[in-house]
Amino acid sequence: MKLSHIACIFVALLGAIVWQIVHVVVEFEYSSYSSPHSATALSRWNQLTTATTNGVAPTFCNFDGNVCCRTSTEVQFPKSIEEVQEVVRDAVMRGSRVRVSGAGHSMSSVVCDPTPRGDSVNGGAPPLTILSLDRMQRVLDVHRLAMNDTASLLSSPLDVTTAYVTVEAGLRLIELNRALRYLGLGLKNMGLIQEQSVAGLMATGVHGTGNRLPSIPSIVHSMDVVLANGSLVTWSRDSNPEMFRYARLHLGLFGVVVRATLEVTDLYDLQRHNAVTTLEQVLKHMHEHQRTFRHYQFWWVAGTKYALVNAMDMVEVPVIADGGDIPLMCHVFRQHLPVMRAAQSVGLRPCKFHVDLDAVDSSSIVSPPPQPPKVLTPLRKALSAFKTDLTFDIAVRLSNMFPSVGPLILQLLPYLEPESEDLVGWGPDILTFPGINFHAVRYTELEYFVPMKYATTAVRWFVSFAEEHRVDCPINSIDPIRTVRGDNVPLSPLYGWYGDNDNDGDNGGGIALSFVLVQRDDIFTQCASIVEAAMLKMEGRPHWGKRHPLVRTYEDVVALFGADVVDRYRAAVLDADPHGVFQTEELRVLFGLMTTTSH
Ligand SMILES: Cc1cc2nc3c(=O)[nH]c(=O)nc-3n(C[C@H](O)[C@H](O)[C@H](O)COP(=O)(O)OP(=O)(O)OC[C@H]3O[C@@H](n4cnc5c(N)ncnc54)[C@H](O)[C@@H]3O)c2cc1C
Repeated sequence: MKLSHIACIFVALLGAIVWQIVHVVVEFEYSSYSSPHSATALSRWNQLTTATTNGVAPTFCNFDGNVCCRTSTEVQFPKSIEEVQEVVRDAVMRGSRVRVSGAGHSMSSVVCDPTPRGDSVNGGAPPLTILSLDRMQRVLDVHRLAMNDTASLLSSPLDVTTAYVTVEAGLRLIELNRALRYLGLGLKNMGLIQEQSVAGLMATGVHGTGNRLPSIPSIVHSMDVVLANGSLVTWSRDSNPEMFRYARLHLGLFGVVVRATLEVTDLYDLQRHNAVTTLEQVLKHMHEHQRTFRHYQFWWVAGTKYALVNAMDMVEVPVIADGGDIPLMCHVFRQHLPVMRAAQSVGLRPCKFHVDLDAVDSSSIVSPPPQPPKVLTPLRKALSAFKTDLTFDIAVRLSNMFPSVGPLILQLLPYLEPESEDLVGWGPDILTFPGINFHAVRYTELEYFVPMKYATTAVRWFVSFAEEHRVDCPINSIDPIRTVRGDNVPLSPLYGWYGDNDNDGDNGGGIALSFVLVQRDDIFTQCASIVEAAMLKMEGRPHWGKRHPLVRTYEDVVALFGADVVDRYRAAVLDADPHGVFQTEELRVLFGLMTTTSH
């Protein structure tokens, strides 16, 4: 090993330590930001100008800052459905369009049309009112199914619904996960982060990894929506099922989603097996492995022939007497609803989240008793992050800069990897990634889904593209390649990708593949368009919450889903919002909706 290589490894490890410190600080801030009870819950908005000053209207900016728009009034933070209705009626009377921001974590312009830079009047577009449900984050109801009901629903042991949870749609995923954990329940699957709001997760069809697990819109059981005339409607499989079918992936076009009921499963723990291997090996075994494991994903290290594989499965973890990192009091209260109610009535908050106890079905809490999982302690979690994400991330960056060093660092990864026992824990701890990549690094991304039959071709194409465009399109592969299941949600990128229709050995679904550039907005569109064109040729479809420069018009969307699906979606949108109050220009063009003049 050359001296320069050793020096690079040393620099990488030093950088890792500094980065880890940043991560711990960021994660601390993040956890307080995400709490609906915290005064800092609205910090993102407070950083913006939420009051009109000198005639310049407030601004909304999304996660990567590529979509910023000006609004005609202060951003609205209703606290109840009645207040949402009032805001919407008031906006409509003023001739304003209405859009809702979730956590602002979509990188495409799905919240609002970007205001041209330097323009203070929203580019001459109609006035815009943005509202946020950051003050509507309560868990409202939990309904656990009886054992024989769950048996009949057992389409797949991974997909079993054991309960329904009803929440206010502004609830952040991190709080939902915490609440479910205390109730002995868990989401069936999730993506890589926990910042998003429930309505936002539905809106763009968020997915995790796992070829037998549903996307978020697929687990929606019912939704309550405030329409443009201020009325409140409920859409579910029983109540207006046709509208429900289309409105799950709503893109903010149907109205303000104020409540949602989600299908959830029992609390579960996962074990994550990590392996560093060659990309060739990964591709050779991908079909087999994605069928074997509950969750399966791999991270290709740009510029090398290596990949880091994460394969995750459910695991039984012995109960810890003191309840792990869940406060002991919380366990005690949880199993004694009257005590919990009494505590709340005198202003105590037994657990960190808010549950409307009067609405909670006590049998769902007491029987069967929830199993406190073994969890990663913050230190172990930090160490784990240090040893995996961070080293990996730095290897990626170094391999971009010095082609020969990345693989060398990577070869050390197996020695730095925590023992597999360290990677056992509560589902969200294992599935989602803490701070480093996602909070410290701002990046922008295109994500495409291709059917399983093109999975290996797509990955190989991507690798050769990265090699060919190493200088002009330097990829930072900080998103994994994930296997995903098909669904029946119209306009979901996974729509209709079921089973093996052509007998070529695939079991449906597809893979999600990201093109990520860190802080290189200048070249993003040009590079992403090359990737997108190739993915489109492989019957690929975009993630609506990520950027998709080549899919811009109604014709483009029809080419992806067929006119029948798109026209039905459009009809459902116009049925819910005939005057286009909830439309943006971009979405109007994308789905062939009405012109602004008719509003
Ligand atoms: C770091 C990072 C990691 C990510 N990882 C994943 C991943 O693993 N898997 C994945 O699939 N995606 C992932 N995404 C994409 C992200 O999950 C989606 O874009 C998601 O929709 C963002 O949710 P949000 O709450 O931020 O919604 P926003 O981005 O704020 O809004 C999304 C849409 O929902 C609408 N909306 C929000 N709330 C309401 C409401 N109450 N009523 C009506 N309309 C509403 C908005 O108007 C908009 O159209 C990631 C994004 C980032 C930045």
